[in-house]
Amino acid sequence: MPKDSCYSCRKEIVSGQSFYEDHGVKVCISCFRNLKRCQKCKFPSNQLLQVKGFGDVCEFCYQSLSKEEGMTCYLCNGKIWTSASHYADHGKFVCQSCFKNAKTRCFTCRFPHVVNEISGQGGVCEFCAEKNLTRESDLKPMLSPLGSFLEKFGHEVSSKPNLLWVNWKLVIGMQQDNPNNIELQFFDELVRFGYPVYYLKGLYYVIPSIPRKWFMAYMAGQLVAADICRKYDLFHLRGNSPFLGLARGWSHWVSYSTAKTLKYDRVAKVISRWPESSLPGNFQKFLAMSEFRKPAEIVEFAHDNLKTYAKKYL
Ligand SMILES: [Zn+2]
Ligand SMILES: [Zn+2]
Ligand SMILES: [Zn+2]
Ligand SMILES: [Zn+2]
Repeated sequence: MPKDSCYSCRKEIVSGQSFYEDHGVKVCISCFRNLKRCQKCKFPSNQLLQVKGFGDVCEFCYQSLSKEEGMTCYLCNGKIWTSASHYADHGKFVCQSCFKNAKTRCFTCRFPHVVNEISGQGGVCEFCAEKNLTRESDLKPMLSPLGSFLEKFGHEVSSKPNLLWVNWKLVIGMQQDNPNNIELQFFDELVRFGYPVYYLKGLYYVIPSIPRKWFMAYMAGQLVAADICRKYDLFHLRGNSPFLGLARGWSHWVSYSTAKTLKYDRVAKVISRWPESSLPGNFQKFLAMSEFRKPAEIVEFAHDNLKTYAKKYL
């Protein structure tokens, strides 16, 4: 049986002695302790080679890295190795160093480079600046299909809702009992506190710049909230009563169902979990019901119960 020897110093590795093993070779414990390690695989090597933008790697990793195509950083044009951590969104990649050193990030998507500052919101990247809805956007192509969609839920909604694009702090503030305690920097945090679109006394308050998918889902729920207010002669759905809890749960359910129907999976997932407050009312009840009841039955249940509760509690 051939004796084992250290790949690095060639000395014999006596049986019973501990050693390091990788890439099909063994390294003695003394070399393991004294040699610098490869930044990719941690192999202790006396032949480390420098790869620009990656660091010192062992001779084994150098081979595979030089063959690897990797990705190009959208901001600095530097190479990003597949195994290196990086940011990916909008079909672009950004290297870890550009991400870390970014002074400002997009409020909507956290992209580490902004092209503009939106008042009442924060930085916006070139992609969100182009795609997001703002007060300048034509909402008709979204609102009219939403109107016919909501008929299936038993609601007749306005095709020309009165939208007010205001500071996100205001929009979230109206939905909170302690609005001053809110600290957040990004959209994905905002949706944990409340809705980016909120109906109150005949107006829909919207944050200044919002991605289409999120607008569609939240707007659907708020159009329903407004229709309930119209039918039952209310200003809003805030407060503690079984009627209001049911009404809020139902509008939250409609937001969720809209996202589900349109296959906005990420939006649906967030709506099923957040906000963690009294805002979604009896939403969980509708969610549980959807497992064994048909959509039409859920719609009937909601409207029947709203009527009953209104007589009892309004
Ligand atoms: Zn050795
Ligand atoms: Zn290595
Ligand atoms: Zn970069
Ligand atoms: Zn963005």
